[in-house]
Amino acid sequence: MHDIWQEFIKIIREEVGTRVVETWFKAVNVARWDAYNKIIILQAPNKFVTDWLKTHYMTLFEHHLGRLLNEPKITVVFQQESDINVPILPATKSTPSSAVFTAAKPLTPPTKIAKHAEHRAHGEINARYIFESFVVGPNNNLAYSAAHAVAQNPGILYNPLFMYGGSGLGKTHLLHAIGNVVKSRNKKAHILYQSADRFVHEFINAIRFDKVFQFESKYKNIDLLLIDDIQFISHKEQTQEAFFHIFNVLHQAHKQIVCTSDSMPCDIAGLAERMRSRLEGGLVADIQMPKLETKIAIIKQKAELQGHVLTDDIAYAIASRVISNIRELEGALIRVIACASLAKQAITLDLIEKVLVRPDAQRMHAIDMQRIVNTVCQHFEYSLADMKSAKRQKELTSARHVALYLMKKLTRHSLKEIGNFLSRKDHTTVLNALERIEQRRETDHKLNSLLHKLEHDIVNA
Ligand code: ADP
Ligand code: MG
Repeated sequence: MHDIWQEFIKIIREEVGTRVVETWFKAVNVARWDAYNKIIILQAPNKFVTDWLKTHYMTLFEHHLGRLLNEPKITVVFQQESDINVPILPATKSTPSSAVFTAAKPLTPPTKIAKHAEHRAHGEINARYIFESFVVGPNNNLAYSAAHAVAQNPGILYNPLFMYGGSGLGKTHLLHAIGNVVKSRNKKAHILYQSADRFVHEFINAIRFDKVFQFESKYKNIDLLLIDDIQFISHKEQTQEAFFHIFNVLHQAHKQIVCTSDSMPCDIAGLAERMRSRLEGGLVADIQMPKLETKIAIIKQKAELQGHVLTDDIAYAIASRVISNIRELEGALIRVIACASLAKQAITLDLIEKVLVRPDAQRMHAIDMQRIVNTVCQHFEYSLADMKSAKRQKELTSARHVALYLMKKLTRHSLKEIGNFLSRKDHTTVLNALERIEQRRETDHKLNSLLHKLEHDIVNA
């Protein structure tokens, strides 16, 4: 349950931002998961927090926790610290599954947890993120080597080091890894990890409380400055100015600066020109989505850290079902491991099939019908007009069926919407196509592998 909650916090952070998470969600604790009744009991410090979370974030709790627990419908109940001893549920039949998830140890007071989280948010290096646990592949070896080199020789090689890439691909991990190496070599080094979001917040407070001088001297004393998600200072001119100033002071003193972002400096809108050229002045390294082979290596390594040795087959089954990023890959693995221990069984292909039914629901929205049809057209060498036409040659019909089938499988669109997209008036046409393909798949191995290939191409397009 701990892992699921951590995973939930990560997802929520993406949706609502770090500050909301630190203020509201980190004060919450999972008291109990009642698997029999599908009720999750959350513990909040007081009524105020409870009310706020209920009014603003109830659907997020239900949606994401339900998904992580692999239950379509769960009930979220809040309990306050003051009513911990009041049983709010009737006694339930204890099933083996609820026994595993029921928190047996006494609850940690939420205030303590909140304080700890605050601490981390204020620039601590996370000891969990080290180079040794980072799997290197063709997608990230430039960023990895650069980060590694910088950690060995801070302030000398690439300054600044700028790493960019999509969400959940390991930027923050590398940032902390640098911090950990420098810290272990020089206990006295002033190292600061800060998200740009937090930097902005801090700067605004410094202005508000007339503490800009203290703010600047804090930053100017740093030996290693690690700024995460620098894109958050875009469109904030005053903050950029302050950062520019700090940057120059540190740079001139040969202090290492490392920044991450979701895109290249030139693609960050609302960034002052001089800021951009400073960020580009060292080394700019990208991180891409890993290829299947690297994904498998990552899964095996993460599983091993939790004491599970996975075969390639098992790792592949998980890797091939997760399409977006490594954070979600980890989430999927956690769900698989949790369900295996819940059911007290080994991690098998059957279990994975059950736990990871389909790619992440949110991601499905990212795949649009156009992309699918384009891929199918390209493979069969038909035009979109052919696909939409009334022509019924055997080859063309088959290609059309494949497109309709993949559209249903990879998107959340209704049969009607899918039919309309290819100018089919009646949604039963789509149903027909689905049935035909399902039937053919049972015996036709060539079709089967073609569908796998197309699916893979679409998902990774
Ligand atoms: P980002 O900051 O790019 O959004 P993170 O650094 O937070 O991504 O990575 C998300 C999760 O994926 C973390 O738990 C991290 O440890 C893991 N991760 C990312 N890339 C790798 C990798 N190459 N090897 C091992 N774990 C990775
Ligand atoms: Mg990050």
